[in-house]
Amino acid sequence: MNEAEGLVDALGRPLRDLRVSVTDRCNFRCTYCMPREHFGRSHQFLPRAELLSFEEIERLCRVFVGLGVKKIRITGGEPLLRRGLPQLVSMLSPLGVDLALTTNGSLLAALAGPLALAGLRRVTVSLDALDDPTFAAMTDGRTRVEEVLAGIAAAEHAGLAPLKVNAVVRKGVNEHSIVPLVRHFTGSGHAVRFIEYMDVGCSNSWDLRDIVPAREILRTIEEHFPLEPLEPAATGEVARRYRRRDGGGEIGVISSVSSPFCNDCVRARLSSDGKLHTCLFSSSGTDLKTPLRLGSSDAELAGIVASVWAAREDRYSELRSSRSRTNGGPTPSTPVQLARPGQASRKIEMSYIGG
Ligand code: SAM
Ligand code: SF4
Ligand code: SF4
Repeated sequence: MNEAEGLVDALGRPLRDLRVSVTDRCNFRCTYCMPREHFGRSHQFLPRAELLSFEEIERLCRVFVGLGVKKIRITGGEPLLRRGLPQLVSMLSPLGVDLALTTNGSLLAALAGPLALAGLRRVTVSLDALDDPTFAAMTDGRTRVEEVLAGIAAAEHAGLAPLKVNAVVRKGVNEHSIVPLVRHFTGSGHAVRFIEYMDVGCSNSWDLRDIVPAREILRTIEEHFPLEPLEPAATGEVARRYRRRDGGGEIGVISSVSSPFCNDCVRARLSSDGKLHTCLFSSSGTDLKTPLRLGSSDAELAGIVASVWAAREDRYSELRSSRSRTNGGPTPSTPVQLARPGQASRKIEMSYIGG
């Protein structure tokens, strides 16, 4: 413990954010996250009995809030596939934290109203392109762009604006969508954020040559819309923020590969089957569901979380950067092995751990 910050990890970082995955399933097969060749018909998703119930999620979230968490983001997989999600939101909203949700937007048109009524305040929608062929090349699903845009409109209507719109940029696939996305959201008040394609999990055959570095994304935008930097809104914020000089809105870049931000990483993740992960790139998690179901008290659960956090030394992205600098160039693509919960040597997939 540190007097000023409360619970801190081995590198002095407090515990402030919690991402809660409510399902490992998704109706998209984004090539960078759940490529169809690995997440096809034969893929075994978690059985229902393994998923935390809403009551269990609420209890664990309360324990995390007691340890200093100020922000909870509901994610997945695709969180809107979890039946009755507004009920979970209504159970979490009395915790008094900044409660947000990340979604692919495909089901948002129907659910934005109920989620807002239940107490949701903020939504991030992933949208990688504005034209259907490029969108399909990224997401490998049947959803059309206009359905996601209808979800965004419904979120605005429900009072969830301003939103964040996230686009992963993959070299040679959707770079040409950067400027149209910025242009489309001109004057909307929504922040458009571009994410460097990351080597999460082991299934997406990631290669450093597939990323478009943040500085290149910014250069592309600046050719059309001159930018000026903004101060970070909060500690641990992952996006570098900029304001368009023409007053058209805010953009952000998330440079997890080219310029890692492990130094400020205050984020824990809770998988849908109740494992605590202290890094997006972890290969194993700490089981909280078993002690919870065996009757541990809140104080005992808090003790487990606190001891895991106190020992945390994760800084995967910083180490990746120094590795690739030492090797003098791009790292080769990761061998294709699908990570399963419980297999310690492989990185866990993002759809399982919660993006
Ligand atoms: N299904 C929801 C969605 O897509 O918004 C929530 C879960 S998804 C795993 C959360 C975020 O992770 C999305 O914005 C997605 O674009 C991002 N993401 C997934 N795989 C990624 C990768 N390999 N590199 C960078 N971002 C990735
Ligand atoms: Fe599904 Fe989101 Fe992963 Fe795409 S990024 S496959 S929408 S979980
Ligand atoms: Fe945080 Fe791990 Fe990402 Fe570094 S690599 S910013 S420690 S989640």
